[in-house]
Amino acid sequence: MKKNVLGNDLRTLRNLDQQSNRISSIAQKFEETFGSPPTFIASAPGRVNLIGEHTDYNDGYVFPVAIDKYINIAARQRTDRRVTLHASDVNGSWEFNLDARHSISQQAPAWSRYLIGVASLLQAFGRKIAGMDAVITGDVPIGAGLSSSAALSVSATLAFLAAGSELVADGFPVPENEKKELAALCQRVEHEFAGVNCGIMDQTISLLGKENHGLFLDCRSLEHEHVPLNLAGHYITICNTKVKRELATSEYNKRRAECAKGVDILKQWIPNISSLRDIALTDFKKHEEELPILTQKRCRYVIEENTRVLDAVSLLKTRNQQITEKTDEALIQFGGLMNASHNGLRDDYEVSCKELDLLTDIARSITGVIGCRMTGAGFGGCTVSIVHKDALETFQTRVKKEYREQIGIEPEIYLCRVSDGAQVFGRKELS
Ligand code: ADP
Ligand code: MG
Repeated sequence: MKKNVLGNDLRTLRNLDQQSNRISSIAQKFEETFGSPPTFIASAPGRVNLIGEHTDYNDGYVFPVAIDKYINIAARQRTDRRVTLHASDVNGSWEFNLDARHSISQQAPAWSRYLIGVASLLQAFGRKIAGMDAVITGDVPIGAGLSSSAALSVSATLAFLAAGSELVADGFPVPENEKKELAALCQRVEHEFAGVNCGIMDQTISLLGKENHGLFLDCRSLEHEHVPLNLAGHYITICNTKVKRELATSEYNKRRAECAKGVDILKQWIPNISSLRDIALTDFKKHEEELPILTQKRCRYVIEENTRVLDAVSLLKTRNQQITEKTDEALIQFGGLMNASHNGLRDDYEVSCKELDLLTDIARSITGVIGCRMTGAGFGGCTVSIVHKDALETFQTRVKKEYREQIGIEPEIYLCRVSDGAQVFGRKELS
């Protein structure tokens, strides 16, 4: 069988029962830590956004996928109100009491605040939860823009709900009609307990992701649609710059302010708008000269990006769904929209950086790469590329070599599968 560059056999990669590997390895860690097996495991994926960047806080559209990288929480209910946590990736432990809701100890480590936050808000909303012993471990790279934090709060939410449920022994089915409510709760945890003023996308995709489908999400109405994503022999390939996103927070706030300023000014000419989402590109073009140049660039990017998401989704929906491994025109156009998105982020929105631009330039120069862009807030983090399987080897070799030569460090490369959203495994899966 043909070996691919990441050390995985391509056929094995498809067939491998990664889910059961994941379950048995964390169950073992739980047993080593607490002396007996867990009763359930909650598992939530990270995500990558294929197109629609910086559109969420402008009430716009996004198109993320859940990836096969997860934060897992193996746990066993307790009969008292204590929560005993061990986070094995960061080698930390923490305990708290579910009834001590209003006092978070100064010493509580950053990672524990997501769990304390989840427990506190679930209780505030009247949900039945219970104490538990838990081991947390995962493979979503931390702080790389693939949303390890959302995966952590989503898996914590399911773990607390499962612990409080009689259904847990057979696996806790996450109620379909509650997923959006739970996503909103996890978003509040980021705002109120981690101090990160994020949008709703990350938590929503972690809960609502569907294998081989992208999630078309309207960030204003929160309406969503699962859109088939037949990659026709291509892989979603993520490259981590391994650069710290130091500018990300301050520049993020500045971009939000510029967008709001643009809406305020344009209101004089275009009535009934409350966000950039409401402005058609043709109307913007008529009035863009009224804006200061920087505001103009920021607004242009967001309005064009919203249009690109709509175009990308329409391409996928009208495409022949019986595609084989041949690259079809719709996928090439989809890749072109990803490239245009990066150019806008680099030139108009100015949230890229030399490392992201370099990874994008290398990727785009390789035959078989149909599109590449930075993904996430910017100033570091990751790029996402759509790479044909025959080009994976060249991709890996060239990206590593050329990035190392120019930046001095090796990037990490992850080959991802588009996966289902969060779930809880119970007795059946654990046995
Ligand atoms: P990301 O882009 O990965 O979401 P954030 O800075 O928003 O980056 O979140 C990272 C934080 O989430 C970490 O500092 C830690 O507190 C928590 N976290 C993520 N993954 C883990 C893990 N495997 N174990 C413990 N905490 C984690
Ligand atoms: Mg995060």
